[in-house]
Amino acid sequence: MKCEIIAVGTELLLGEIVNTDAQAISQGLAELGINVYFETVCGDNPERLRSVLEIAKGRADIIVTTGGLGPTADDLTKETIAAAFGKQLELHQPSMDRLLQHFKGRTMTPNNEKQAWLPQGCFVLDNDWGTAPGCAFEAEGCVVVMLPGPPSECVNMFRQRAMPYLAKLSGGTICSRYIRVFGMGESEMESKLTHQMQTWRNPTAAPYAKEGECLVRVTAMAETEEKARAMTEPALEELRAILGDVVYGVDVDSLEQVVVQEMTARGLTLAAAESCTGGLLGKRVTDIPGASACFLGGVVSYSNQAKQDLLGVKKETLEQFGAVSEQVACQMAEGVRRAMGADVGVSTTGVAGPGGSEQKPAGLVYIGLSTKEGTRAVRILKPNQSRDRVRRLASSTALDLIRRYVQGLSE
Ligand code: ATP
Ligand code: MG
Repeated sequence: MKCEIIAVGTELLLGEIVNTDAQAISQGLAELGINVYFETVCGDNPERLRSVLEIAKGRADIIVTTGGLGPTADDLTKETIAAAFGKQLELHQPSMDRLLQHFKGRTMTPNNEKQAWLPQGCFVLDNDWGTAPGCAFEAEGCVVVMLPGPPSECVNMFRQRAMPYLAKLSGGTICSRYIRVFGMGESEMESKLTHQMQTWRNPTAAPYAKEGECLVRVTAMAETEEKARAMTEPALEELRAILGDVVYGVDVDSLEQVVVQEMTARGLTLAAAESCTGGLLGKRVTDIPGASACFLGGVVSYSNQAKQDLLGVKKETLEQFGAVSEQVACQMAEGVRRAMGADVGVSTTGVAGPGGSEQKPAGLVYIGLSTKEGTRAVRILKPNQSRDRVRRLASSTALDLIRRYVQGLSE
């Protein structure tokens, strides 16, 4: 089957935004074994969209559109597509009810109602991530799928609504699983998994890089969800065996989620002493519901004085090695562990940048870990990175260090 993706939006043509929707849709279609032959971008203009649709009809079996499903006057995708395929729009009452429910207690302006008008006889794709529902229908030998433009809606709608619909057309259902990896670069991971990525057809394995982390998505297609899931199991096992203990979880959201889960399960407690991360580590841990079961608290000890007064870091150590040093990271971790009576004390001290400090380069961070077995620190150097990224990577490294300790893995 040949597919054409049509992204509708003048902002795309003006270069104001990048067509990330098409990228996500293409990736998903590849998992389904559907070939994308064309990707078209069209402004919010009914005549030009109409001409693009006429061309697509002639060369694609599946047309997936994004954008222009919203309530405003320039959102004309649905009307134009319906007309191009000779379909009327009709009120879809369940979608209207969902809209009314969404606006409950607030005023819903009349233009919002148009979102509940959908091509007659279409399959409705409920939008749990926004207001405009998507839809799909078959006409004139084409399958047409319409998705909303905002990426958070488009990607979720595509993966959770449109992909199962498209898989069903080919007589199947899909299941995607995610292996999360920290501490291995994307290129290394890809080179380890080249064989699986290139030769596996069902399930498929696709790698992604994400904010200093990597993930591998394993997708299987079968007649039933259960069967598809069962097919992912041996694949996950094989990939885990190749990747080793850099895998921090399967189908988990984040490192912090794993840390909170694993510490709570073992009845361990955590305290954090943060300098360059300025509270980010504590924030990430406390983003997880139930973090109070393991996280006792943190100290943002930004100045040398605070490091001495609150954590007992020695003045001589600061003078001899500087605040950004292995020695200070260790004393901070020990200090906060002692002060809070925690099982695990973790610390960060570094140069977030953009400039250097203490004649040390931007991107240099020491992360300390203090436990009943002893105290140690690791060093990371992430040059030419934004301040934000250095801080995020430092907090991720700290979380992974805790995860490895809790799981009894070597450094
Ligand atoms: P809304 O209900 O928000 O109006 P919509 O389905 O009408 O959604 P658009 O109005 O076309 O969609 O786009 C809404 C926003 O989504 C755009 O301003 C843009 O930021 C983003 N967006 C639209 N299309 C794309 C795309 N192809 N890739 C990435 N972002 C997109
Ligand atoms: Mg819109």
